[in-house]
Amino acid sequence: MVPGKPKTLKRNNRKVILEYLRTSGETTVAAISADIGLSKTTVMKILDYYVKKEMVLPAGKGLSTDEGGKKPELFRFDGRYKYVLAIHIFPTEVFTAVTDLSISIIRSRAITNRENETAEVLVREISSLVTELISDTAIAVEDIIGIAVGAHGITNYDSGVVYTSPHFPSWGENVPLGEMFQKALSLDVPFYIDNQIRFQVFAEKTIGLGRDKKNIIVLEGGDGLVAGIMVKDEIKRGVHYLAGEIGHMILCPDDTEECSCGGRGCFEVLVSVSRVLSRAAEGIPGHPESVLASHAGTGSLNIETVFQAAEKGDAFARELLYEVLKWFTIGISNIILMYDPEIIIIQGAYARAGEWFIRSLREGVNTCSLKRIEKNVEIQYSTLGKERGILGAAAFVVSQYFSRRELYDM
Ligand SMILES: [Zn+2]
Repeated sequence: MVPGKPKTLKRNNRKVILEYLRTSGETTVAAISADIGLSKTTVMKILDYYVKKEMVLPAGKGLSTDEGGKKPELFRFDGRYKYVLAIHIFPTEVFTAVTDLSISIIRSRAITNRENETAEVLVREISSLVTELISDTAIAVEDIIGIAVGAHGITNYDSGVVYTSPHFPSWGENVPLGEMFQKALSLDVPFYIDNQIRFQVFAEKTIGLGRDKKNIIVLEGGDGLVAGIMVKDEIKRGVHYLAGEIGHMILCPDDTEECSCGGRGCFEVLVSVSRVLSRAAEGIPGHPESVLASHAGTGSLNIETVFQAAEKGDAFARELLYEVLKWFTIGISNIILMYDPEIIIIQGAYARAGEWFIRSLREGVNTCSLKRIEKNVEIQYSTLGKERGILGAAAFVVSQYFSRRELYDM
């Protein structure tokens, strides 16, 4: 613990204890005291305060100690002390949820996005869905500590403006999405809007593979490609909110295919699912031995088919993915040299690419550059499902809430 003024020290102690309770389930005064190195008297005094505030609940008696002493009192953080509203806009679906402070979903609803919908109509629909959701849960509006909206596209976290969203051409440019949501929802609570990938980092950090890590890159790929970047527990947005727009890093300037940004040779075009599928369709006549040939002309060829065939050793499917692996290897090696993360977590379509793919990717990255430096960067597929967006948005609101100083002033 960093030495400081007595008041700062006390505040830090309270913060550490509350954090401990939030992440450790039922526990005892003795366990807290031993794990964080504060006296039992100090721990008890702080626990009393949070019990009175109803943030911490007595949870009965634990097992007696080895020495046969009396059974200790158990305490636990009350996740249902307050609630969070989370909204995640995927290109095809919108998820909304009310969660508690332990990021458990109390209730959720989803709607399908219609093509060419305007931002105004979508905001109106989502807001009425959210209003229904709150009334279904019978939660008092005063108990909601914040709202987070995960948007697609380049999003100004500070002003709430979505500059451009390639998945939603009908929105146009410079959409004040944050302001529109705040007006429509009309709830007087902290409101956050960000590119959804930055919330996904919080999902991984709180409930996914990024637990216990401070330097995390989340890479979401399919037809678009974007990264969420956390360095020393801090999300990187950049001055123009472009940090993580790695899909438009130019990896192959001689490539002929044009990207949605107008450039050529962009990372996301080189690894896009649609490019793999069109190359598969073109190459199938020359590879009758491949299992992919049985899909020719049936309309049943999709990326999962290619992944499964490659996993089973199909030479043509592997040839298609070698090309993707080459670009992922170069792109990821560049990202590692920029941010030196502990872990890179892959989400989206490529998270289903199988063991052969990720093993090849790890081997490629580990031999790509700076060979003499032993790299210990983990590369993993995300274990989180489609709900990761709302869980991440909720986790972000919770992290903001617990960083408020007044929670630790007694
Ligand atoms: Zn581009």
